[in-house]
Amino acid sequence: MTDPGPDTTDVTDELARELDRAHVFHSWSAQAQTSSLVIASGRGCRVWDHAGVEYLDFSSQLVNVNIGHQHPAVVSAIREQAELLTTVAPATVNLARGEAAKRIVARAPEGFRRVFFTNGGADANENAIRLARLTTGRDKILSTYRSYHGNTGAAIVSTGDWRRVPNEFARGHVHFFGPYLYRSEFWARSPEEECERALQHLRRVIESEGPQTIAAVLLETVPGTAGVLVPPPGYLAGVRELCDRHGILLILDEVMAGFGRTGRWFAFDGYEVRPDLITFAKGVNSGYVPAGGVIIDEPIAAGFDERVFPGGLTYSGHPLAMASIVATLDAMASEGVVEHARAIGETAIGPGLAELAERHEAIGEVRGEGVFWAMELVADRETREPLPAPAMGELKAALLARGLLPFIQDNRIHVVPPCVVTADEVGEAMAIYDEVLSAMG
Ligand code: PLP
Repeated sequence: MTDPGPDTTDVTDELARELDRAHVFHSWSAQAQTSSLVIASGRGCRVWDHAGVEYLDFSSQLVNVNIGHQHPAVVSAIREQAELLTTVAPATVNLARGEAAKRIVARAPEGFRRVFFTNGGADANENAIRLARLTTGRDKILSTYRSYHGNTGAAIVSTGDWRRVPNEFARGHVHFFGPYLYRSEFWARSPEEECERALQHLRRVIESEGPQTIAAVLLETVPGTAGVLVPPPGYLAGVRELCDRHGILLILDEVMAGFGRTGRWFAFDGYEVRPDLITFAKGVNSGYVPAGGVIIDEPIAAGFDERVFPGGLTYSGHPLAMASIVATLDAMASEGVVEHARAIGETAIGPGLAELAERHEAIGEVRGEGVFWAMELVADRETREPLPAPAMGELKAALLARGLLPFIQDNRIHVVPPCVVTADEVGEAMAIYDEVLSAMG
């Protein structure tokens, strides 16, 4: 039995739910409505609800707790910083901010020497978009259907899913289809064909919009919320080439995929592509304190002027966030978390999911890398018809009942535990998935 963490049993079921409902997110989120789980504490890959019931966290809380819950070194760094200084203004320099920036650029490609901090991922994309517009003097931002970039102004209209519907008339934001072989828009039969046709499609979109009006292409390196859509070889390099041909900047959103998730520090390290701007959040400090930012290639940083007021004014670079980044990145490096993520993906998660797919007709496809995977569930393997929402709801309830906290989006179960997950924990989770899928018939 794992240590259950602090005692929270004095919170009654009823009170916990009432507190939870008071958070407005829960009034509309279908995802949240299917879950009555109220989490009170966490450690490593496990969380406990207010009654002390233990769950394996295979969601990483929206895919951000890469280093695991309540890592002792990060928790004590936050505590120590709290005793030193917890406020910051942009005109002053705090030591932790420089230390955090230094560690972040050390992981980025040559030439990326500047970072500015924001309060999260949406905020990072917002600022990258603004910077791209100021740098190029152009307006349009191209991003893919099946993407998620955050819930603020420009980030939400760059997002290519149902969330942008109320913003359909936002100007300057254009969507195109990225590669997704399993549900190909291009009738492709191989990754090579998918890559070639997806690039052809983007070429046409750029031409019809007018290349000289496009400031940037904004892409999740590996689209996460849309189902871990690992890009085919050559696709990102092809996008880069198109951008270069037309003076368009390439922003890679590494908010979910970055800092270890894919078994690399940045997901794009595996794709022979160099972006102009990199946005990050979540994994950089495992979400312990809200933080994000943009890493900027030098030619763009050199063009900074008084019009660029990056990040939020009061809280960007907050000492608690910075201390948590420093401690997280140091612990990740000294504990080999990124290498572990790659190895556990190759030796346990990938093979485990492949075996599940062999046993269960309901799994149409599994895909992923590192500790970043998704199973696509179908009503019929032949037609690839997605498993309908009520059945997905039942799956979610069954997983929770067996002690696994899942991240489910549409017809996909995302398999995204903290990157420190052990082979035993992966085995435990696979047995639960297997049991639940068997019970489904
Ligand atoms: N970009 C990506 C790829 C994300 O997955 C998310 C959040 O899930 C965001 C941006 C938004 O980040 P935040 O919730 O910190 O605003």
